[in-house]
Amino acid sequence: MAMKQFKAESKRLLDLMINSIYTHKEIFMRELISNASDAIDKMYYRSLQEDDTGLSRDDFKIHIALDKPGRKIIIEDNGCGMTKDDMEKDLGTIAKSGSLAFKQENKDKKNDNNIDIIGQFGVGFYAAFMVAKQVTVESKAYGSDEAWCWQSSGAEGYTVDPCEKAERGTKITLDLKDNTDDDNYDTYLDQYTIKNLIKKYSDYIRYPIRMDMQKS
Ligand code: ADP
Ligand code: MG
Repeated sequence: MAMKQFKAESKRLLDLMINSIYTHKEIFMRELISNASDAIDKMYYRSLQEDDTGLSRDDFKIHIALDKPGRKIIIEDNGCGMTKDDMEKDLGTIAKSGSLAFKQENKDKKNDNNIDIIGQFGVGFYAAFMVAKQVTVESKAYGSDEAWCWQSSGAEGYTVDPCEKAERGTKITLDLKDNTDDDNYDTYLDQYTIKNLIKKYSDYIRYPIRMDMQKS
């Protein structure tokens, strides 16, 4: 599909994320895990309301894989997933509380020193762009047999195309940025770094978070 444009205010936030000199880029992990957990919550509550989902609480999990040679982080959940429309609506716009608060706080501030607001409010999904040069979201919504792939390399826009995905839920792949003198993104490929980030920011998450252990 042709490239679609982000809404103007989303683009501004995205630009800020991409060019961020914010030192706590690690919070991307918190944001993506909290989204995975929210998606599982939605699915879980649905399974309580409908008796025929065949799901129980133990079926839900968040899975993380680190691909060192490929320089990718993969975060997968078996929550409610997103339809094509959900992707366009929810990933292409910032309408959410945290992001909005951030936007309002910062509308008159050009100074990056004020960017600590990111830590206080959370910026949501776009935080992925602090560490990733490309973000790929593959998702299959509950009750749908189609899967869709949302992909963006930043402010120039995004694409949404059909894809193959066997299981319900969402798989997010981050292609890490190239290292610079100031930032070594390879640190996020280290399983102990990620483990510590999960402990630091996502200890309260009620679903199991599993990580593939690396062989080497
Ligand atoms: P918030 O979490 O505050 O709503 P985000 O920017 O973090 O804002 O996420 C935007 C929206 O994208 C979410 O509200 C949700 O609808 C959708 N979304 C993001 N990640 C996922 C996911 N893993 N599964 C399903 N939907 C998701
Ligand atoms: Mg969120």
